Amino acid sequence: MRAIPALALGALVLPLSALAADPHSYAQPEQVRVTHLDLDLAIDFPHKALDGTATLSLDWKNPKAPALVLDTRDLKIAKVEGLDAAGRATALKFALAPRDKELGSKLTIQAPKHPGKVRIVYATSPQASGLQWLTPAQTADKKLPFMFSQSESIHARSWVPLQDSPAIRFTYKAHVTAPKDVRVVMSALNEATHPLDGDFRFDQPHPIPSYLLAIAAGDIAVKETGPRSAVYAEPSVVGKAAHEFEDTEKLIEATEKLYGPYAWGRYDILVLPPSFPYGGMENPDMTFATPTVLVGDKSLVSLVSHELAHSWSGNLVTAASWRDIWLNEGFTTYVQGRITEAVYGKTLADEEALLSARALQKSIGKMPENSQKLAPDPRGVGADDSLSDVAYDKGSWFLRTLEQRFGRATFDQWLKAYFHRHAFTSITTEQMLADMKAHLFDPHPGKMSWDEAKAWVYEPGIPKDAPLPTSARFQKIDEERASFLEGTLDAAQLDAKGWNTQEWMYFLDRLPDAPPLSKMKQLDAAWHLTGTPNAEIGMRWYSHAIAAGDRNVWEDAREHMTRIGRMYLTLPVYKAFAATPEGLAYAEAAYAKAKDGYHPMTQGAIESILRKARQGKK
Ligand SMILES: [Zn+2]
Repeated sequence: MRAIPALALGALVLPLSALAADPHSYAQPEQVRVTHLDLDLAIDFPHKALDGTATLSLDWKNPKAPALVLDTRDLKIAKVEGLDAAGRATALKFALAPRDKELGSKLTIQAPKHPGKVRIVYATSPQASGLQWLTPAQTADKKLPFMFSQSESIHARSWVPLQDSPAIRFTYKAHVTAPKDVRVVMSALNEATHPLDGDFRFDQPHPIPSYLLAIAAGDIAVKETGPRSAVYAEPSVVGKAAHEFEDTEKLIEATEKLYGPYAWGRYDILVLPPSFPYGGMENPDMTFATPTVLVGDKSLVSLVSHELAHSWSGNLVTAASWRDIWLNEGFTTYVQGRITEAVYGKTLADEEALLSARALQKSIGKMPENSQKLAPDPRGVGADDSLSDVAYDKGSWFLRTLEQRFGRATFDQWLKAYFHRHAFTSITTEQMLADMKAHLFDPHPGKMSWDEAKAWVYEPGIPKDAPLPTSARFQKIDEERASFLEGTLDAAQLDAKGWNTQEWMYFLDRLPDAPPLSKMKQLDAAWHLTGTPNAEIGMRWYSHAIAAGDRNVWEDAREHMTRIGRMYLTLPVYKAFAATPEGLAYAEAAYAKAKDGYHPMTQGAIESILRKARQGKK
């Protein structure tokens, strides 16, 4: 997934009793495991619900297990049946426990006779945390309603009753009905030529963890971008998206050259409406992506490299729990850099590595010690919270350090073999470390001590000798920024005409938190940053200008945060407003108007910022 909000979504302390293999799931995989899922669902736009059945194929591990325990959140369960080998159904008793704020409701199904399959008749609720429902007016083309899922981290349970833990993998098939003219897509092989007749079937033959279950439906057109890739998006967006993503086949080929064949068949990208709360989501065969990367010059295409990299790190080899999520995100951010280097050159790859390292240096000291560790103690860390800068940026920094110490050829050989050895399995940090010790450290002694490797993983902070890439262009920007702030260089004299998105991001990231108002006004007069269509630049510009006290940017800032639901790009602007009483009142009014267009996750995160600010004022 990319990218994450820079603040916690509310860390919830988990009870000790929940500390089994995966503290974020009620599932008991040592008793029984789901091996396959058959979904039969109707998309009901007027009621904002998915309605139908989930049939789970089971592998009973303990001959004495009395029950099947599943994860659910806000599901309405109508009936549960056991199915025997001949398909005969017997009603099963079930109990839905009271709703836990983070984990949802534990569903216990009495099944002492161990049926091979269990069928659950259910419907989702309009508030399902993993689904967003948009009216036609909330879409780009305003013709049909739109819906999409976001299952990572523990939101699949809000639309399918299942063992919602990344340690458990299953294959799935689905039959989905929808109104005519609506196209339905899922995290499985999709057919571009499928008739829009309201009746869709899907097959994902590879075992996947539940957080990679995905569905979307709406007014969706298709445009091919290569022999095994296409872009899916609303008709008015699809052409622009196909242009921005025209290098997709090149990216796939570059990754295959580094880490072996792409295992999933097709690599398609669905561009969602602007309310999608993340940058991208690596749903197998069909990446879900934010439209905020469609800036026209391919400068933010590293998002595709990131989601594509997950086809190896994350989807092929999966972190067994949310505490281990850096195995997905740190490895993926490293691989993303290698793909960028292979296709767009080392200058851009180094710039992106520096941006991420500098941002981490700034943020890590403000985090609790436990959250600064790659493999934290999961007690007290919510599943959504584990997706922090540490997992992405410290994780990839560790791998870049290993590459430097062992040499690129040796490190590449290990990483490629690691993906191969653990393909289609879910592993813990400790299993990865055992592999790394046996296959990288032991055969190549004297490159790095094992204690040093363990410090990267289990200690807070960033090791002192962590190597940083150099960038001549970033160095020049540092010098110009300093001269500009000192007053020896006018804003108009900045050599910014040719700056790409990353270079603007770097310039703005390292301004003082609350720069002098006069400096902000000079910058805007010279470079017209207010009103920028580039949301990466907009988020940084508005945050700094609001902090400097520049009221002239407020209305454009409000337009930015109303238009964009991607949390990473909208939350910092809310936070900047929330720092003063007048700003807070303005942001609250803006939120009241924009709320219906935001995803439930974005709503929760904004409400938390506003609530904290209001309490701070009392
Ligand atoms: Zn990711």
